[in-house]
Amino acid sequence: MSKEVEIICFGVGFGDCIYIKLPNDIQIIIDTGHCNKLLDVKKKLLSEGRNIDYVFLTHAHGDHIGGILQLIGTTELGIKGVFYWTPDDNNISKTNLKKIQQLTNISVDKDNMIHCEQIDKEVLLRIEEIFDKYIKILYPDSSSFHRYNTIDLNANSIVIDVIIDEYHLLFMGDATVENENIILEKCKEEKIDLTRTIFWKIGHHASDTASSENFMNTILGDKFKKAVCSCKESWDYPGNESKPPSVSKVKQINEKLSKLGENIYFTGETLTRRDIKMKFKFENGSVEYVPDK
Ligand SMILES: [Zn+2]
Ligand SMILES: [Zn+2]
Repeated sequence: MSKEVEIICFGVGFGDCIYIKLPNDIQIIIDTGHCNKLLDVKKKLLSEGRNIDYVFLTHAHGDHIGGILQLIGTTELGIKGVFYWTPDDNNISKTNLKKIQQLTNISVDKDNMIHCEQIDKEVLLRIEEIFDKYIKILYPDSSSFHRYNTIDLNANSIVIDVIIDEYHLLFMGDATVENENIILEKCKEEKIDLTRTIFWKIGHHASDTASSENFMNTILGDKFKKAVCSCKESWDYPGNESKPPSVSKVKQINEKLSKLGENIYFTGETLTRRDIKMKFKFENGSVEYVPDK
């Protein structure tokens, strides 16, 4: 029997907001972009008859959790739960910390439909059950809990692996090279074969802090299909030269992708934003990219 996974990387400007429909029809959102973009996303989801079962927040930066209150403030989408991981509050901005605290309050409000859970070792295992093993959290894992970074929130990004027929779709959040190294180590130990990666949401908007040579050489094998970066392809106005994506990183990634006949898909082009819709079909052990009509 064939299986399908559907992905929409919403064009929310500089930030992540990714919809995924798993083969078991569970629908998730990874991150909620900045708060002012989320209502558009919600409208689009509802107009296409989609709902959301679960939300993952990769880390507590505004371009990832900004819209969470708008998202859970609505019942139409049918959200059942939110998973997040904020091991250390010290470096979270006041605005974002307030949002996290509201999540915590919801989790103890039994009348509220939405259950919010801070990821811990037990929740990590439960996630595999809830999602019929289609989702595995690659970071944090039980051995890396103690390694959380107290200075750089990006290094506390949850990294989500969608696994279908032993193919991997990687959603990196803003994870860093250090996280990538931990993930490579873990995958080696657990015999998870990341050379079977077919989709990659590039870490940290293709900045220099992520996407190491070593990591790319592992995931960009001959089965690889598509890579998405959640920002504009360049910042062409003064004062923003230091913002991701890094020109040299984009070049480095594209050089590797071009050998596979691919290029990075950006959610925000220079003047416009766009939603990137992708579908992959799995049948008899092989996988096919289905272009959006
Ligand atoms: Zn970000
Ligand atoms: Zn970040």
